[in-house]
Amino acid sequence: MRSTHGVNCTGSCSWNVFVKDELITWEHQATDYPTTGPDSPDYEPRGCPRGASFSWYEYSPSRVRHPYVRGSLLTMFRAGLKRFRPVA
Ligand code: SF4
Repeated sequence: MRSTHGVNCTGSCSWNVFVKDELITWEHQATDYPTTGPDSPDYEPRGCPRGASFSWYEYSPSRVRHPYVRGSLLTMFRAGLKRFRPVA
């Protein structure tokens, strides 16, 4: 499957991710970016060492699995929901 890395990164690189028995076993840099034209070198491959070693992070016990929210902002959001209707 095609994926990228979204933790502390813009996720701008394209990777082919290989999964076996529901576990990521390998990531390989994609090399099929569109050409940049005849006057510039092409992108491929594109990726960094952190991305190349990223697979383990999916299974790290310290991985954040749910979004965080600041308590004061959540209180304000809930108060706002009572006063205003969400835009349809
Ligand atoms: S390879 Fe590196 S720069 Fe590219 S998306 Fe992954 S972490 Fe970000």
